[in-house]
Amino acid sequence: MVHFSRRLLQMAESETLAMARLSRELKAQGKDIINLSLGEPDFDTPDYIKQAAKDAIDQNYSHYTPVAGYDELLDAICLKLKRDNGLDFKRSQIMVSTGAKQCIANLVMACIDEGDEVIVPAPYWVSYREIIKMAGGKPVEVLAGIDQDFKVSPEQVEKAITSKTKMFMFSSPCNPTGSVYSYEELESIVNVLAKYPDITVVSDEIYELINFVGKHVSIGSFDQISDRTVTINGLSKAFAMTGWRLGYLAAPEPIAKACIKMQGQFTSATCSIAQRAAITALTNGPEKVSNMIAAFKKRNELTHQLLLEIPNIIVNNPQGAFYFFPDISYYIGKSFGNTKIQNSDDLSMYLIHEANVSTVPGSAFGAENYIRLSYATSEDAIVKAVERIKVALLNLK
Ligand code: PMP
Ligand code: GLU
Repeated sequence: MVHFSRRLLQMAESETLAMARLSRELKAQGKDIINLSLGEPDFDTPDYIKQAAKDAIDQNYSHYTPVAGYDELLDAICLKLKRDNGLDFKRSQIMVSTGAKQCIANLVMACIDEGDEVIVPAPYWVSYREIIKMAGGKPVEVLAGIDQDFKVSPEQVEKAITSKTKMFMFSSPCNPTGSVYSYEELESIVNVLAKYPDITVVSDEIYELINFVGKHVSIGSFDQISDRTVTINGLSKAFAMTGWRLGYLAAPEPIAKACIKMQGQFTSATCSIAQRAAITALTNGPEKVSNMIAAFKKRNELTHQLLLEIPNIIVNNPQGAFYFFPDISYYIGKSFGNTKIQNSDDLSMYLIHEANVSTVPGSAFGAENYIRLSYATSEDAIVKAVERIKVALLNLK
């Protein structure tokens, strides 16, 4: 019999990827599934970035790269962080990796020991919890519901801090809620964190550019905590490059070095061609992708309008990313024939089987009574999908 590690057995499968897999399988069986589960832009990678990758192949960028990434890419990242975020970093503080996901994994594996606590505002992105657990750490979830626009208060953060707290990890714009912390909201949380110098602040800014309220604020730009903030970003979302696997992290030098050491054993480095393409993506600046951001904004407004027409769900007005996270608690406890909906997992399953729409249950993100809908799809698909969800919910008695 094959032996599996406790590490594996205690780990939940990524539910975003699991729901995406299920929709693919049902589609392959001929079902007309609309996929609102996976958080991935439906756009193709822009041509100017693809061209840079083609050139890199022709120029024989085919060898192992430095573990942290090519120097030119580290410079492009420093330039981007200064230009767009007002953050000062040098090469030795940057690590490029196979997506933001592995940046987070390297960081947590490098800095978290058995029993260490990591404060994670909930709803949080699925993988934070499992990566922290994999390192033996304890995710300390601080829940902010839709009544708080899914944003934790400074009081909640302070209450969760103990002598074992090593990290505070969050995303803004947030996956799964689309909420964006304002400057003032971040400042109030910084004022708490400033009192606890041993806490590393991890700011996942992968949705930075998909922000409908104006300029993105990096928590690392606050002086009080800038020397212990790790900023994480990547190309997957704003540049429609999920499959290229390129993310990066900017950190105090000892932390960057530790992450690079970890990566040297796990990965060596990410793909040389993706790195060359990333130099072009980042040196060119965000204006080049403004058409995609405008499309997301339009879809956000459309989805919002349509969701408001569904009776008895509660919807907020997310200001970034490409998700809605409606409160569906009214429908918990209701039934369709013999099927009783006991929780958000049941509701997601009901929707994929009865409405042919895939979603992700709130439980995956540490928040029961919600489901996540990704609107990174065409307007036609959004209209059809929300109508199907509405009909299916109204069938629950
Ligand atoms: N952080 C958040 C909040 C995400 O939604 C995702 C999903 N793509 C990631 C990190 C990981 O992104 P990637 O590994 O594709 O760069
Ligand atoms: N981050 C995306 C999501 O939340 C992609 C899937 C994943 O990496 O978990 O759907």
